[in-house]
Amino acid sequence: MFGTGLLKGLGVTLKHAMDTFNDDREAVPDRYRGSLELGDNRRVIQQPIDQEGLLTIQYPEEKRLLPERFRYIPMLIWDSEKHEDRCTACGICAKVCPPQCIWIVRDSDENGKPVTRASEFYIDAAVCMSCSFCVEFCPFDAIKMNHDYELAVYDRYPQLVYDMEELTVPLEYYAALWPTQYDEEQTRRREEEEQKRRQAEEKARRVATKNAAAKEPTAAGPKRSAAELQKLARERAAQRKTQTADGDKSGDDAAAAKKARMEELKRKAQERARQRKLESGE
Ligand code: SF4
Ligand code: SF4
Repeated sequence: MFGTGLLKGLGVTLKHAMDTFNDDREAVPDRYRGSLELGDNRRVIQQPIDQEGLLTIQYPEEKRLLPERFRYIPMLIWDSEKHEDRCTACGICAKVCPPQCIWIVRDSDENGKPVTRASEFYIDAAVCMSCSFCVEFCPFDAIKMNHDYELAVYDRYPQLVYDMEELTVPLEYYAALWPTQYDEEQTRRREEEEQKRRQAEEKARRVATKNAAAKEPTAAGPKRSAAELQKLARERAAQRKTQTADGDKSGDDAAAAKKARMEELKRKAQERARQRKLESGE
């Protein structure tokens, strides 16, 4: 029959609407279980875990407890342990931001040399689409997503263009908003620092071993530098040259002595021959 499907669809919609009212009514006794007082008669409502339907929250007196992964506008982290901004003004977040709503000005020292610090940092909250790309790409964990969504103002400029002071929050604020993620990051940081410390120790040990080996005398004497070895080689060559000259001189003397001895022996031999002749009466 014409219109049957339409009526069925309306019936399903009506059933869901009634179920929602019913679930909401049944959840009323548990309404404030786990809720959190905000002061000024305001409280954060945590939806009971076993309640499946929609829970009507009387905003703004009541606020829904947000899940950790809720994100709205980015915030910059002030490292309370190191007493410095984590942002190094590398500009990666500004490059990856799809609607290009981040502006950064790098700071410089008294000589005008750029330093790894931002002097100005702006985010246009009216343009930001809460994609969290800036957070994912930041190599220094310097930018995170804030949960604060009550940002309504009458004018976009300048109220919705947040500067560095408005964006910066202490590390503890981030830790309270993102406890699981914060713990994971701290564990990773500790592991990285431990690894760096071990590498530095290993390097220092290798250098110390090398220095000790260089100082240690070997079987052929202590190790010498290349310059020392060249000097020694030159000295030895000069020494050899002198020795060769002395050798030539003594060689001449020896030959002369040998010649004289030979002459003497010849003379003695001739004398002896003459004596034998005389003895034989020849
Ligand atoms: S927030 Fe991160 S990515 Fe952006 S400029 Fe600072 S250090 Fe670089
Ligand atoms: S959350 Fe997305 S849109 Fe917003 S500033 Fe970061 S990168 Fe840009």
